[in-house]
Amino acid sequence: MVLKSAAEIEILRENAIIVSKTLAEVAKNIEPGVKTIALDRIAEEFIRSQGAVPGFKGYRGFPNTLCISVNEEVVHGIPGERVLKNGDIVSIDCGCQKDGFYGDSAYTFAVGEVRKEVLLLLQRTRESLFRAVDVAVAGKRVGDISAAVQEFVESFGYSVVRELVGHGIGRQLHEKPDIPNFGRKGSGMKLLEGMTICIEPMINLGTKNVVQGKDGWTIRTADKMPSAHFELTVAVAKGNADVLSTFRYVEEVLGTKKI
Ligand code: MG
Ligand code: MG
Repeated sequence: MVLKSAAEIEILRENAIIVSKTLAEVAKNIEPGVKTIALDRIAEEFIRSQGAVPGFKGYRGFPNTLCISVNEEVVHGIPGERVLKNGDIVSIDCGCQKDGFYGDSAYTFAVGEVRKEVLLLLQRTRESLFRAVDVAVAGKRVGDISAAVQEFVESFGYSVVRELVGHGIGRQLHEKPDIPNFGRKGSGMKLLEGMTICIEPMINLGTKNVVQGKDGWTIRTADKMPSAHFELTVAVAKGNADVLSTFRYVEEVLGTKKI
């Protein structure tokens, strides 16, 4: 676990804003008929226009700028020729790197008209993230974040993916500590001022079990029911979390379509 100085947190904030704005550029183009590879190209071009480089491309051999995961795909989907269609949901996870530090943020979008039950999954997964952010303050523990997500989403009968978790972020895309989306209040590592973490609930409409695809990357729900994923980067501080990334740009684009 690496604590960051105020100056380092500002570099992380700059990266977090770049990924937040990239997601908004992608959001402008999410509609039935678009190929996922087209969204990937838009993201890469925008990231490079900001003087940054894609954070995921080449990471452990991942081939693209975005992870694009549709419907029952949970995370780590590879962009390609797949065409988004009305009624899909699509999780876009974006990373960048600039001045030696990383940015990492994710948002799940509705494509056209999505059935109510699935829209609620998106809204409540997003809400669970903000509940977790509220307790990401100095003196609390990792388990307080985990429990905030788990208790909220399980109250609706959803389930929390166990195999994938949030993480510290800094000069490495994934640093300690792990930030699970399940756990007990008051357990785990104490949160310290200067810790920078990605909180990223991955929440399934059905059961918690997931499987990995033959491509070696794509994680899907075992029961093929939809899954949602939202991610923000937070600097732990006293009193209130300092939220480095933001959904503001994305949700300005979504406007009245806001989930
Ligand atoms: Mg991410
Ligand atoms: Mg992450």
